[in-house]
Amino acid sequence: KNLVIAVDGPAGAGKSTIAKIIAEKLNINYIDTGAMYRAVTYKCLQNKIDINNENEVIKIAKDTQIDFKDNNIYMDGNLLQEEIRTMEVSNNVSNVAKIKDVRYLMVDVQREIGEKNSVILDGRDIGSYVFPNADYKFFLVATPEERGNRRYKELVNKGYEVKLDEIINDIIKRDEIDSNREFAPLVKAEDAIEIDTTGKDINEVVESVLSKINL
Ligand code: C5P
Repeated sequence: KNLVIAVDGPAGAGKSTIAKIIAEKLNINYIDTGAMYRAVTYKCLQNKIDINNENEVIKIAKDTQIDFKDNNIYMDGNLLQEEIRTMEVSNNVSNVAKIKDVRYLMVDVQREIGEKNSVILDGRDIGSYVFPNADYKFFLVATPEERGNRRYKELVNKGYEVKLDEIINDIIKRDEIDSNREFAPLVKAEDAIEIDTTGKDINEVVESVLSKINL
């Protein structure tokens, strides 16, 4: 039987870093579900679509093919990388992700992958909504300051000119929209294992996740 591991939590809690390492260690696929919502947002911005016009955004989402190959995301056949990580995409993505019909489309893709493959998925609603019967569920948290600092360092290392307070504001704002949306909000699944990553380094978090997994 294939293995499904859900990693949820607020923005910048370390989900993708941890999930990628676990995927390598267990030799399973890694799916970055946030990248899917970012991809749709990026395409809307490219096409100068008003993000508040739900019907237009849904049209774009329906017209978009998203695939994962070797843990990388492809949109309409093209590899997506840093273009979906800009502040402009970050500032708009939660308003795209709150649209129910957009979520239906993305969740279909996620379920199809998880039904056929062993995967670790990181997101907001994986344990609570997408895979309520996941084999393992983790919920990573950290203080907003720590999450902002990590994101800041990550972006600066990549050569972006960003301001720490802008990053912290973006994180807080996204968490608020993600937690308060009507459909499949950011929430800890009842049976998820919560891990506070504040002050912990990557290895410590990886070890505590792995210690819960019996294969
Ligand atoms: O994980 P990341 O921070 O890249 O996700 C970007 C945004 O995508 C989140 O702030 C949230 O609005 C949305 N998202 C979501 N459900 C998921 C994953 C991401 O709504 N499963």
